[in-house]
Amino acid sequence: MSNTAIIGGGPAGVMCAIFASQNPHNKIFIFDKNIILNTILPTGGGRCNLAYSEFNFKELAKFYPRGEKFLYSVFSKFSTKDTIDFFKSTGIKTYTQDDLRIFPVTDSSKDVKNALLKQIDKKNIKKMFENVLSVKKLPDGFELTTDKAKHVVQKLVIATGGKGGGHNLAKSLGHNITELRPSLSSLITKEKDFAQLSGISLKDISAQVFFNNQKLKIPKNALRGDFLFTHNGISGPLIYKISAYCAYLDFNNEKPLKIVLNLINHTAEEFDEIFLTQLKNNTQKDILNVTDKFIPKKLAAMILEQDNISSATKAGQLSKKDREKIIRKLTSFTLNAAQIAHGEEIVTAGGVDLKEIDARTMESKIVPDLYFCGEVLDIDGLTGGFNLQNCWSTGYIAGKTICG
Ligand SMILES: Cc1cc2nc3c(=O)[nH]c(=O)nc-3n(C[C@H](O)[C@H](O)[C@H](O)COP(=O)(O)OP(=O)(O)OC[C@H]3O[C@@H](n4cnc5c(N)ncnc54)[C@H](O)[C@@H]3O)c2cc1C
Repeated sequence: MSNTAIIGGGPAGVMCAIFASQNPHNKIFIFDKNIILNTILPTGGGRCNLAYSEFNFKELAKFYPRGEKFLYSVFSKFSTKDTIDFFKSTGIKTYTQDDLRIFPVTDSSKDVKNALLKQIDKKNIKKMFENVLSVKKLPDGFELTTDKAKHVVQKLVIATGGKGGGHNLAKSLGHNITELRPSLSSLITKEKDFAQLSGISLKDISAQVFFNNQKLKIPKNALRGDFLFTHNGISGPLIYKISAYCAYLDFNNEKPLKIVLNLINHTAEEFDEIFLTQLKNNTQKDILNVTDKFIPKKLAAMILEQDNISSATKAGQLSKKDREKIIRKLTSFTLNAAQIAHGEEIVTAGGVDLKEIDARTMESKIVPDLYFCGEVLDIDGLTGGFNLQNCWSTGYIAGKTICG
């Protein structure tokens, strides 16, 4: 009989526990200072976006700004199809949205939580409501000190997520932690006049990003998605992606991140033709009532004001210079991000250094019988189900290895 302690009862730790317990000679303990699997409840806005419909594992790994190469090996063992099949086996059927994100058919993260809890109970996994304060390596095992007791186990898994105490525990066992940064976050802009646009959203637009006058090299077509103005800046999936790719750039008020948005998904040349046709067909209409066919009215009004064009100008009277100004704004709407909205991040970039982990087993290359899975690792993905996929996949591999 071998005892395994899993520190962290989030999606990664629970996945690991379920597969580690397939061997009846393994006794599995999940330690969590909070309620097990509560971190899954807010995912996907309560709907739990549990995976993304990309079945080629190399393509799937491209959605991770950190961890791509490491995940080749991980996803070759457990990927999107395995996730769907696993959840089906727990009674959770899934469906794929038009944007390729995968959800449970009930659209309920609570159902996902309950299905996983049922597996834990079925497999006799012991839940320990204890905060692990420190860990010590023994000649053939580990000693855990919690807020309630001391425990000795043969194998140890650290699955404490991006914000848990696991990074310090890993450090105390000799692991390097790469710099931790917030990722998937809203951004605060230098421009303050966007407050009046708060709540206005644009669907599936594209962006380019510049820092220090250099265009950032971000995978082609990656910077597309829905966009939202907030009371102090910008948010939405497109901005989350930008925050992920720029997580390690030190941008600020003096050195902002320049974001150029194409609000209409046409090049200036393409749009010139479309806009001219609209102007010709609506000569008697106010220019505001023509421009708002392409973008929300409030945003259109702000753009016209910024360009000193009266909203009441008749479309037929618009000068060529003013038409060009509007086209430029709609195809290259520029704003400057001065900082991320701290505390609002969805994931943490950085974590346990992947060079020190065997991707085939999730075992530490430094300390035998020590394993890691989930967000505690230096792996983070974009929005779309990628961060949970990392938990299912790395959790599965750690669990299967421990299962033996
Ligand atoms: C609002 C929100 C929405 C999200 N939506 C999605 C989504 O739709 N799709 C997606 O893929 N990802 C989503 N994510 C990200 C995803 O939830 C995380 O990547 C994932 O939960 C990480 O899982 P984990 O098991 O590694 O760690 P966690 O889920 O963070 O779990 C770690 C657990 O460890 C426990 N713990 C930590 N330290 C200790 C300690 N010392 N002792 C005992 N217990 C400890 C914590 O209490 C916690 O329960 C979302 C995140 C947020 C915040």
